[in-house]
Formats: sequence, C-alpha cells, structure tokens
Amino acid sequence: MKKTIFVAAILVNAIYANAQHTITTAAADKKADVLLSKMTLEEKIGQMTQITLEEVLKTGPDKKDIQPLEIDTDKLKEAIFKYHVGSILNVSGGAATREMWYKLISSIQKIALRDRLKIPVIYGLDCMHGVNYTVGATLFPQETGMAATFNPDLAYREGEITAYETRASYIPWNFSPVLDLGRNPLWPRIYETFGEDPLVAATMGAAVIRGYQGTDIGNKYKVAACMKHYLGYSFPLDGKDRTPAWIPDRYMREYFLPSFAAAVKAGAKSVMINSSEINGIPVHASHYLLTDVLRGELKFDGIAVSDWQDIIYLHDRHHVAATQKDAVMIAVNAGIDMSMVPYNYSFCNYLLELVKEGKVPMSRINESVKRILKVKYELGIFDTPVGNPDDYPKFGSAEFTAASLKAATESITLLKNQNNILPLKKDVKVLVTGPGANTMQALYGGWSYTWQGNLSDTYATDKNTILKAIQQKIGKANVNYEPGSTYDSLTNVDAAVKAAQNSDVIVLCLGEHSYAENPGNIDDLNLPLAQTQLADALAKTGKPIILVMGEGRPRIITEAESKSAATIMAYLSGNEGGNALADILFGDANPSGKLPITYPRYANALVNYYRKNLENGNSDDAHGYNPLYEFGTGLSYTTFAYSNLKISKPTLKDGEALTISVDVKNTGSREGKESVLLFIGEEYASVTPDTKRLRAFKKIDLQPNESRTVTFKVTPQDVSFINDLSKRVTEAGAFDIQVGGQTQTFNYETNTAPSRTGKL
Ligand code: BGC
Repeated sequence: MKKTIFVAAILVNAIYANAQHTITTAAADKKADVLLSKMTLEEKIGQMTQITLEEVLKTGPDKKDIQPLEIDTDKLKEAIFKYHVGSILNVSGGAATREMWYKLISSIQKIALRDRLKIPVIYGLDCMHGVNYTVGATLFPQETGMAATFNPDLAYREGEITAYETRASYIPWNFSPVLDLGRNPLWPRIYETFGEDPLVAATMGAAVIRGYQGTDIGNKYKVAACMKHYLGYSFPLDGKDRTPAWIPDRYMREYFLPSFAAAVKAGAKSVMINSSEINGIPVHASHYLLTDVLRGELKFDGIAVSDWQDIIYLHDRHHVAATQKDAVMIAVNAGIDMSMVPYNYSFCNYLLELVKEGKVPMSRINESVKRILKVKYELGIFDTPVGNPDDYPKFGSAEFTAASLKAATESITLLKNQNNILPLKKDVKVLVTGPGANTMQALYGGWSYTWQGNLSDTYATDKNTILKAIQQKIGKANVNYEPGSTYDSLTNVDAAVKAAQNSDVIVLCLGEHSYAENPGNIDDLNLPLAQTQLADALAKTGKPIILVMGEGRPRIITEAESKSAATIMAYLSGNEGGNALADILFGDANPSGKLPITYPRYANALVNYYRKNLENGNSDDAHGYNPLYEFGTGLSYTTFAYSNLKISKPTLKDGEALTISVDVKNTGSREGKESVLLFIGEEYASVTPDTKRLRAFKKIDLQPNESRTVTFKVTPQDVSFINDLSKRVTEAGAFDIQVGGQTQTFNYETNTAPSRTGKL
C-alpha cells in the first residue's frame, strides 16, 4: 500500500512538474545511449510503433468513440505494457478542448510512466495552420496564403504561436510544415504547400520550423517540427493524391529537395515520408531516398516516421512486398524509424520476428530507437510528460489574434482593380453573394477542427465569415445577402440578381468547399459550372463585381473572372480571413500579397512560371505561355516605381558575391508594402535553363514618396543548378536579372572545368 502511494506521488510530481527543460543535444544523445542499453528488443520495437488515439479510446455500443473522448484503460494498458508503444497520434471525431487534451494526454502518460522503463509517449498531431484540432486556437492562413505574404517573419511568428498553443494542448510534436512543392494545381493538397517556387518553400518552411522549435525544443513553448512529405509527394502525374509520380533524379534535386535541405539546416527534428511512389519505387521502400540522400547527403539525424498505414500499403497497394511481413522488412531496412501503423500491432509482431530471423539487423533497430529517445529527451517529456495548464495564458489571446489578422491581411492578393474600383466607400450598398460568402469553410479549408474541415461553422461561431465581417464594417443596413448557389449547384439565382439590382456593388465569393487529401481529388480544374452561371447572371445586372476567390487551389475562373471589375485571391486565410478581407475591401488595409503560384487560364495549360523556353510555345504558335495571372502578381492601392537597377560589377567570379540593388519608390498616396522579387535566368547552360527563377526576395514597407534601395547579395551558388550527373554546378555564362520590370545582365566566370558531359 505504502509503495503504491509513494509511486503515485512520484508520478504526480513527474507529470505536473513545471520545470524548464534544457538539455544539450550531446546530453540527450548520452541519455538515449544509456536507456537504449537497458531495453529489451520488444521495448525497442515498441518505441518504433505509433498508433492512432482511436485504438485506445472507449467506444459505445455502436463501436464509435464515445464523446467526450475517454481513454479505455484496458486498451491503453495493452498498448503500453504488452507492446511498449512509443507514440500516439491524431484526434477522433473533431477538435478537443484544452481540458479534454489535458485529460487524454495525462491518462496516457500516467500509464506510460508505469511501464518498466518509464518512457513517456511522444504524442503527435497535425497542427497545419495553428492548432487546428484544439477548440479556440489561433488559426492562421493555410501555407499557400502564408507564402503569398512573402514575409518569412510572419511565418516565424506563426510557428511561435502554433508551438505555444500546441504545448498548451499538451502536445510536443507537430506534423508540420508541408514542404512539398505546389506544382500541379489539380493536387488536392496545394493549399498545404508554400506554392510552386523552391526558394519560397525553402525560406518560409525554414522560418516556420525556427518558430516551432526555437533553439531548445525542451522549452515549454516549443515543439518538434516534422518535414512533410519527403520526397516528391506533390507532383503526381494525374494530379490525384497518393498516385504515382515520375520525377527524374535531376528534377528531384533541382525543385523538390531544396525545401527539405533548408529544413534540415534549420534543425527540423523529424520527417514524414511521401505515401506515394516515384518512378515505380514507393518512397517508404526507397533506401536511396530514405538513407543515401536523407541521411548521407542531407545529414538528417532526426526521426523518420511513416505516413498513415504506409508500410501496410507496400503490400496492399504498391505490391512491392509479397507479404505484410516483407513490407515491414523493406521499410525498416530502407530507413523508416517509426511506423504510423496505426490501427493494430502487426508492425511489432513482424519486426520482432524479422530481427530474430536476422532479416532486419539489430543495428538498424538501435539507430531508430536512439533517434526517437533522443528527441524525447530533448523535448523534456521525461521530466514533464504533461505541461501545466496555467502556463499558457496567451492561448487564443488578442495578441495571437492580431498576428493571425496581420498574416491574413498580408496574404490576400489583389489581382485586378479596374478603374481603381477598390477600395470601396463605406456608404455603398453591397450585395454579398456566392457559396463562400457566409461560411468559415471558405476561410479555413481542410484540417480545421475536423480532417475535412466540414464542421467549421459549428466550431467557429465566434469568428467572422466574409458576410459578417462586411456587415460589421459598414453596418447591416448597407449589406444585402443572397447566396445564389452552393459550390456545385444553383439555388436561388433570381433572388441574388434581384438583390444585385438593389445594390451598388456585388462582392461575389466563389471557390471550393473544404477538403483534405484524397476526398479533395477532382477530375476537372474548371470551377463548377453553377458558380460561373451565377457570375454570368449577376454580370447581366451591370453592377460591378468584386470577385473573391476562397479556394485551396487555382480553379479555372477565366469565364467568371472576365466579368469582374476587381479580383481578389483570398486563399484559405484562417480565423481572421473575413476581417482581413473587409479591411482590404473598404480601404482600412492596403493589400500586399503576391501569388506564390501561377494562376492558369485554361484547364489544360498548366505550366509553372519557371518553365523552359520551349514551354513558351514556338514563335509561330498561338498557344504559348499565357496564364491568367503570373506567379508574383499582386496589386496595391498605392503604386511602386522601380529604377536604377545596379550590379556591383559586370563579372562574378568564384568565391565572390555580386551586389544587386534597385530603388523602389512609393509613388502613390498611401503607405504600402511591396515584396521585391529578384529573378535571374541563365542564357545558355548544359541543361536547358529555366526562363527565369526566383533567387531572392525582400518585403519592404514604404510611406508615400518614400524611396528605398533594396540590395541583394548573389553568390555563384545562388544561381547554380543540377546538371545531368545530378551534381549542383554553376556554369560560366551570361545571366539575366529581372526585378520589378528592370533588367540587367552579368557574367559568371569560373576556373572550374565545364560540367558538360554530353551524355544522357
Ligand atoms: C497525411 C499526413 C498526416 C497524417 C497524420 C496522413 O494521411 O498524409 O499529412 O500527418 O495523415 O494525420
């Protein structure tokens, strides 16, 4: 009896302790070694196992998880005492309150700390744009919106706030950011990416990781980040989620790898693997990508976790493993450290057999378990498995809300503004219409309260939809509302048309309903017909249309857009998206977002901005590169004049840097922010050069009449590319600079022998 009381007291102290944990990587490394030396094989394999929360929840007679969620102690004991499970993920049903998370995580850690070696569970959650599975959290724009800000400071701040609120939900591991390149607009996860450009993805991704992790992930306001989804996940041939990609090694390294390389440099503690296959090899089975490149070249030493059920899929879907057991062997030998199994313990059983049979070497197990233990030590969860509820007074605070509003405001991108129709006067009569007008789904997309984001209007009743925000801005009396259509079908167009006739201006909110992953697959990039028909009917009234797109990917809007007087890309802009949009519409904020993607004009003309010359079309071909809006487009209510583009010297040599400067002046009448984008393209190279490539960017803020000289330092490395031997090189030759309509040329000279091989 006494013993029980004593043990309980230690547990309580351990769980509720509020100490600040700082442990050096070297110390964590040592502790991991010591602990590893005490572990049985079963215990080690348990650490490599991740199950979903549903596996340990109480279910009702209908076999569904009871609400509010409750841990089923027997199931949890089986997971911990029998299988020594090291990690749990996810949520069930929908977002949980902080109190619910506290109960859940405390129950889990209490049992985990009763296992022989008292190793805490590392809980992982998808906090994609804020802690989207905790009620009341600060939700930011999804990544594409964050990219449109071209402001890494905002990404860093988002990271900091999300880390704070994740720990406030007692969770230390965030499955974010997505570092995949948003190159194929059909793909249903475009909105989770930082857009199509490798430099933007690398810069914004590294910034958000620094925000998540700080310099010490043991800090009670920091979490471990997870780079997703290594590698090449975003470029399926047919645009559907988790379908095969063909990406030659050279392209992989040129476009898809840099964001992961930058994230490793930023110190990311974990990586999640691409569920799909590349060139016929499922990435979960690729020793080349998981070990040779990730560990050997990038020197990544954190945890590699599989994606959902993906080891099982090596057998079930990909057919590269004849049995489930083979699947485990292939994946672990390729370099997976942790299996997101997530519904059973098959991984534990098979791996145990495989090690005993000598088919998976013990060294591979030790390597993985050490990586996992090390991150657990660094996170401080051995000492504080559950945080102290009182430590997070800023959760959902006004301070955090202001940061989310700033990000949303800087993301919203003004694409067209005929006759400066925007900003609107506050005394105009406005019709707010369209399927996105009065739903938070249009502002959040998926990964919001639920996986598919379908219950956002139930959870976020205290947030402003576009309609509510406009009503608050100019008074309900000045606002008419008729939706006119859903996302897919017309409802009452006549009512919308009538309301338009009684209004001065129409704010037409089109786009997509919320979705995540496979359920977001589409067969046609065109905006559903009903929405175009609504635009058409409204245009016939002759009233000016302000088209607002709330969407996860650039649906083809060419027809509807041809009828608008102004067009705004709102992306998926989070909690404050409605307010930010109202501020911009009525001139309380000046837009400064720029497109981080190419907005296509036609469904079958999908070319990224860093196209090859041939993709421009031949000179006698009328079907050249002709997007609706180019990457980097974004207007302001003020004007900026670029002049005086200078280079510090005409020739760049090895070991040197070139300074490029340009003067930017605010020539309009109000303060504005401008993202200065520096593009450089090589004229001739051994591999066909991209017509232009973003090589640097900076966002500045200028008062009317204020002028600033913006400078960039460019080294030979900055204009390098991957040659036909998969090597990064910079070749001698002429390079064309473009910035804000100004152009210049410089030469690069090198003593290194040309890399040309002439081989294919
Ligand atoms: C997604 C990942 C996510 C994981 C866990 C998978 O289906 O691809 O992005 O982290 O589920 O929820």
